[in-house]
Amino acid sequence: MLPQILTPIPGPRSLALAARLRRHESRNVTYLADDFPVFWQRAEGVNVWDADGNRFLDLTSAFGVSGLGHTDAAVRTALVAQSGELLHAMGDVHPTALKAGLCARLSALTFERWGAGDAKTVLSSSGSDAVETALKTALLRTGKAGVIAFAGGYHGLGLGALSAIGLPFFREPFRAQLKDFATLLPYPHCYRCPFGRESGERLGEGTFPACLADCLMDLRGQIEATLREKEIGCILVEPIQGRGGCVVPPREFLPMLREICDTHGILLIADEIYTGFNRTGALFACEHSGVVPDLICLGKALTGGFPLSACVGHADVMDAAWPAGTGEAIHTSTFLGHPVGCAMALANIGELRAKKLVQRSARLGEMLLKELSKVQGPKSKVVCRARGVGLMAGIELLNEDSSPATELSLRVIKKLLHRGLILLPEGEHANVISFTPPLTISEAQLRRAAAALRKALDEE
Ligand code: PLP
Repeated sequence: MLPQILTPIPGPRSLALAARLRRHESRNVTYLADDFPVFWQRAEGVNVWDADGNRFLDLTSAFGVSGLGHTDAAVRTALVAQSGELLHAMGDVHPTALKAGLCARLSALTFERWGAGDAKTVLSSSGSDAVETALKTALLRTGKAGVIAFAGGYHGLGLGALSAIGLPFFREPFRAQLKDFATLLPYPHCYRCPFGRESGERLGEGTFPACLADCLMDLRGQIEATLREKEIGCILVEPIQGRGGCVVPPREFLPMLREICDTHGILLIADEIYTGFNRTGALFACEHSGVVPDLICLGKALTGGFPLSACVGHADVMDAAWPAGTGEAIHTSTFLGHPVGCAMALANIGELRAKKLVQRSARLGEMLLKELSKVQGPKSKVVCRARGVGLMAGIELLNEDSSPATELSLRVIKKLLHRGLILLPEGEHANVISFTPPLTISEAQLRRAAAALRKALDEE
């Protein structure tokens, strides 16, 4: 379906709601301007309707959550059935069969599927929680508190996860409350090389310029130096950076981290909260390079719309880290293993598979990347760089002097919202327009979205 905009954006109801929110929500939370946001009323598939009856095409999956599309029938049925049975249980005291079922399912989907044996899981509510569980696991397992993480990385905003994120915008205001256990190293970025090599212009799928070896060699050197200087227990990494601006590293990056972790007896934590569940054309992004991490963090598209996350680890690692329960868990929460969330996750996982969305994500992703690669900056004053894997794609806008074209990016996103397309900016400078649509989106809808972006940039 095409977007259908009936009112000026935001419409009168959205404006009235914004005024109400302005009075009563802490003012840093929702960005409220005269031309932003629209208030969502309902959603189905790739369509979202706002409070004024306008219909939008969602190219974000609402932060990567609605992989199946919004309000999927199977997930909704599971939710409704479960909420009529049991709305809440006692996750770490008197749990449900659903929790046992989901933990077993996550084991089957990850380590068992990778031929690495059983997995054990700690469930939680947010992505940030799952990352913090992983960091605690690494400390318990290795006795070492230090973490290597990467510039541009995003792992959530709880104080533990925040200590390890590589986006200063989020971290700096809270520095006084953070512990300095994370060492941030450059993430290999094939487009703007943080190692100062000749431009990292990517030449094509699987082909890199000669700088590639240097980049990973530099990084290896920095990691080894950090391991010599500090007590490091794990490397925390997004296989593809999402919030950092859809940064796709060289394929050899994760294998290198795996090898270093094995050599030094430390844990490799893959944060797949954004990339997981078919987003990148594989069930999990680490599968593109055949790397099995020690721990994988999952959230977002796990349930398709319920705050439930998971830290899934190799059973040996988890058992070596966590002492057997004695009646009081040392790491748990009130809503752990929420029955509605577990029921939704199980239904969601089944549907993702039944609808063969992993193949679809890969196929449509290739097509989208081709379309985005045709997008040119206005009068060539802006450089547009498209990148992505599967249906996790982005287009970075840079000024002639290579500085981030942030204002243009935000202006174009707003312009497209007014034309019925919901998009998000990503990256440290908010100059990457990201595309993470529901995996059920049609080819025609993607082509139209790319064409709308091209037109919006042409008009600038
Ligand atoms: N890790 C990654 C890779 C993410 O993209 C996000 C959220 O965007 C998080 C962790 C944090 O998840 P949450 O916002 O649910 O805490």
